[in-house]
Amino acid sequence: MNDSVDAVIVGAGFAGMYMLHALREQGFTAKVFEVADDVGGTWYWNRYPGARCDVESLEYSYSFSPELEQEWEWTERYATQPEILRYAQHVADRFDLRRDICFNTRVKSADFDDKATRWTITTDDGSTAHAQFLIMAVGCLSSTNLPDFPGRDTFTGDSYHTGTWPHDGVDFTGKRVAVIGTGSSAVQSIPIIAKQAAHLTVFQRTATYAVPAHNRPLTAAEMAEVKTHYRELRAANRLTMTGYGSRSPRGDTNAVDSAPAEREAEYERRWAAGGLSYLGGYADLLLNKDSNDTAAEFIRRQIRATVKDHATAQLLTPTNVVGCKRLCVDTGYYATFNRPNVSLIDVSEQPIEQITPTGVRVDGVDYDVDCIVYATGFDAMTGSLLKINANGPEISLQQAWEAGPRTYLGLAIQGLPNMFTISGPGSPSVLTNMITSIEQHVEWIRDCVVAMRERGMRRIEAEEQAQDEWVDYVNMVANMTLFPTCNSWYLGANVPGKTRVFMPLLGFAPYEQQCIEVAADGYRGFAFA
Ligand code: FAD
Ligand code: NAP
Repeated sequence: MNDSVDAVIVGAGFAGMYMLHALREQGFTAKVFEVADDVGGTWYWNRYPGARCDVESLEYSYSFSPELEQEWEWTERYATQPEILRYAQHVADRFDLRRDICFNTRVKSADFDDKATRWTITTDDGSTAHAQFLIMAVGCLSSTNLPDFPGRDTFTGDSYHTGTWPHDGVDFTGKRVAVIGTGSSAVQSIPIIAKQAAHLTVFQRTATYAVPAHNRPLTAAEMAEVKTHYRELRAANRLTMTGYGSRSPRGDTNAVDSAPAEREAEYERRWAAGGLSYLGGYADLLLNKDSNDTAAEFIRRQIRATVKDHATAQLLTPTNVVGCKRLCVDTGYYATFNRPNVSLIDVSEQPIEQITPTGVRVDGVDYDVDCIVYATGFDAMTGSLLKINANGPEISLQQAWEAGPRTYLGLAIQGLPNMFTISGPGSPSVLTNMITSIEQHVEWIRDCVVAMRERGMRRIEAEEQAQDEWVDYVNMVANMTLFPTCNSWYLGANVPGKTRVFMPLLGFAPYEQQCIEVAADGYRGFAFA
């Protein structure tokens, strides 16, 4: 592979793969570096039992190639991790991507030479590559969060993190298993682990809201219907706030203004349909606490009706705002706690004290286990970016983000010229169907570098004022909502010491419109040379 290219792309998940294809189509040379030994990103790493998407597969897929859309057959409403990984591998084969991807290679640092207008990228084997553009496709949920529990390394059994699961799977048959965490990864894996394990002990810090997936095989008729109207579906999704779900449109009335019986019927209907559209019932569910309480209380009642033991039901019942942490989509999560081989330990007041050689200690009580599953999430949105020592002419990424991430449009950072971030902080990313957001970012970056080539420009950098205004705007939008009210990873609250700032921007459709206007206005807010 040539070590001097137009663009170096870091990461070969859905973002890096499409970026490579899009640049090649425009005649640019590009090279991708990827830590893993294959494509897929999230779907390469997260192989825990039960891992699957929670945005429906027919929508959680690329839209850039109508031929790809037509030829790929999803088998279930929510595809499993192996199926999504096969899809990523199929895309790599179909578009011949692998010849420009350097696998088993981690980018460690990148230095911008202002005179030469190019980045020098250094990898973990000490080799370097040079590129005019550096495109970070490192993923929002790709840097695992493994809490530093005292004694963690003394455990003599097997430990796993859901985000770096062994490739040949884990058989928990006959084992005593601890799962730490009750977010989406735990909610998906707990029911399956419980069926295998001799005993499962779940350590819960915050109770979780989960809505049923009602997963099922896709019928040929349903698939044909979507495939016939794919263009309309994709276009309609891009006009939503989340980049998916136009087939189950968001209500435009407020929950507080609806009669209780009407509200109940709406929640029932969405609960029966299953999936994330539950929170689309009313326009104000994440804006007004009284409204949110009505949707939250409906779920709380489902939990109490499902879980037989009163104390366990109480413990599983969340009290915070529903949706302000990512809503989980489950298959039998709450009912799993009716099993005689499952126990739930509350670590909200008394945190995990220690990992001992034989298990987990809480409040002086030892829970002896053979395996520990850390379902403790990710250093989201900034983790993988900050692991790369990226240096602009005067400032490093680490310095630029000392007080939390600052970007312009979630796409560029002042002080780091010719560097783009795909689904970076300050863009809708994790609050959307991420493939929709990835495609929008890739296409915007592609169009921007094509425009630069046409105008003979070699250097682009976000302007300080545009970035400041953007950061203020992202905060203003977040502060109009209930999102900042709980300790979510959107705020960085899950990682001790991380600066607390709401990282994603709410609202896909208005954001896309702003990006279009910025470009149409000669890339307003960017300085060129
Ligand atoms: P990733 O898939 O994370 O890929 C980034 C890649 O960059 C990784 O392979 C990583 O190894 C590589 N990398 C990072 N740093 C370096 C480096 N320094 N050098 C070289 N390589 C590097 N989103 C949805 O919209 N719907 C869903 O249903 C959904 N389900 C999810 C389920 C799970 C279990 C998780 C963890 C996330 C889920 N997401 C979902 C979010 C998901 O991350 C995105 O949908 C999408 O896959 C992200 O693609 P990406 O290419 O941006 O990042
Ligand atoms: P997560 O949502 O951050 O959940 C991590 C869990 O670990 C939380 O319950 C957290 O408790 C707990 N935890 C963290 N540190 C702890 C500590 N020191 N002591 C005790 N408990 C601790 O992570 P995730 O479940 O991996 O999901 C991350 C995101 O990935 C999701 O929000 C979603 O966007 C995506 N995802 C999607 C799916 C899907 O359904 N398709 C599946 C998995 C992941 P607190 O809540 O108290 O912090």
